[in-house]
Amino acid sequence: MKTNLVFDSLELELKQYAKENSVPIIIDEGLSFLESVIRIKKPKNILEIGSAIGYSAIRMARVCNSNVYSIERDEKMYNLAISNIKKANLEDNIHIIFKDALEALDDVKDIKFDLIFIDAAKAQYHKFFDIYTPLLNDEGVVVCDNMYFHGLVSDVENIDSYSRGVRGLIRKLNEFHEYLLNNDKYHTSIYDIGDGMSISVKK
Ligand code: SAH
Ligand code: MG
Repeated sequence: MKTNLVFDSLELELKQYAKENSVPIIIDEGLSFLESVIRIKKPKNILEIGSAIGYSAIRMARVCNSNVYSIERDEKMYNLAISNIKKANLEDNIHIIFKDALEALDDVKDIKFDLIFIDAAKAQYHKFFDIYTPLLNDEGVVVCDNMYFHGLVSDVENIDSYSRGVRGLIRKLNEFHEYLLNNDKYHTSIYDIGDGMSISVKK
């Protein structure tokens, strides 16, 4: 097997940083699913909503040398992502856009994407989906992470024990599940992989 020690130690460093600083990077099982999608689709252009420290962007870019455009609104995360992408020598592949994803359409509107990976504020998934799917190629796929929101989405019995904010998020994610599952334009499957991942393709 081909290994790359520079990348591997960077990946470990990023995972360690995320753990110590509670940055919610994608968990291994979810990443493995996403990497399989990339191996199958071989996307030329990937759009990511929510870069954090650049971990998933780096992992995605490495699979088959795709271009990754990733949107991040938090300045500290943005700066960390930029520096990590430099360390990975992937500045030519990965472009981080420092904006709120609700307002970043203009930055990417001329690009056609083969994969859109949604992994930012859970309450806004529906909006992200509507804003960016017009840029998806006909054969493209949309993957969303954290569809189970740490298991809370299906924890209906205990819903009253959560704070109002968390209840609001659970409600929004449930609405998004319904929206995807009843969508006339997209076929969606939601899998119990990682923290719940959905995959949508055009009908
Ligand atoms: N994809 C990353 C993890 C992203 S965590 C990985 O797996 O490695 C979610 C990130 O989304 C956070 O850094 C947060 O700042 C960012 N975010 C949340 N809402 C956003 C929005 N509306 N626009 C841009 N970034 C957003
Ligand atoms: Mg996630």
